[in-house]
Amino acid sequence: SMEKWVGKVAVVTGASAGIGVSIAEKLVEHGMQVVGLARRKFLMDEHKNRWKSKKGTFHPIKCDVMEESDIVNAFEWIKKNLGPVSVLINNAGIGGYTTLINGDAAKWKAIFDTNVLGLCMATKEAINQMTESKINGHIIHMNSIAGFMIPFHPNANVYPASKHAVTALVETLRRELNLMKSKIKISDISPGLVNTEIADVYDSNSYLAKAVADPNNLKCEDIADAVIYILSTPPHVQIHELVIKPVNEP
Ligand code: NDP
Repeated sequence: SMEKWVGKVAVVTGASAGIGVSIAEKLVEHGMQVVGLARRKFLMDEHKNRWKSKKGTFHPIKCDVMEESDIVNAFEWIKKNLGPVSVLINNAGIGGYTTLINGDAAKWKAIFDTNVLGLCMATKEAINQMTESKINGHIIHMNSIAGFMIPFHPNANVYPASKHAVTALVETLRRELNLMKSKIKISDISPGLVNTEIADVYDSNSYLAKAVADPNNLKCEDIADAVIYILSTPPHVQIHELVIKPVNEP
């Protein structure tokens, strides 16, 4: 049940658009104090307005997860004003679709800084607050089916590499927590294609651009439902990994 999280603090990175909005909305509906971290604060302010009458609260903070100081400042503000973090959803992520031969190193760096380093830095701050306050919290990384295989990304070489790094980071963190005898849980979700702004960078004639527009694809709400399920498990149960795809996809 979600009862244990009512009134507790959840941080959702990338809560301005796409999957992160649905996750933040559901956590607010379940009565959490939800903090949204993203660069486009004006979008999060709009969500906050729409969610006014829901059970929980929404607190947008302008934060670029590529910037360590932004993350540190945000987590300090949260602890001081709302209390220590109980749940972190590392959802912020960017994609890319270039050949390695013609690609742009600045874009590759941004993918790794966002999808990997941003996730590491937010995780560090959250774990420190949980440990300090003896909270058996829960961290969920937004991975991808591209974190395990290279299914339909012939030209998206650095994005799947960044998600493979997330796969490694879930397991290494679980070992680290295990050594500390910590009861903090760590899970990851790997969705198939969801039609969001992340697809805007794909060449409109590309296989991926067409595949992402398929009306049978997963919706943002489907991923948010998975987050609620993972957070609802009893204390002795830890979901390691959820792979979610539309029906009739191998
Ligand atoms: P969107 O492009 O729709 O949203 C991405 C979110 O991440 C936005 O809120 C954006 O906010 C935020 N973000 C990006 N860069 C930064 C940054 N530097 N600092 C803070 N926030 C940032 O993507 P999706 O909702 O589709 O993706 C969410 C997650 O799900 C990603 O990790 C993605 O890899 C993963 N995923 C997506 C799939 C899909 O098909 N859509 C499939 C599998 C996994 P802002 O720009 O305002 O900063």
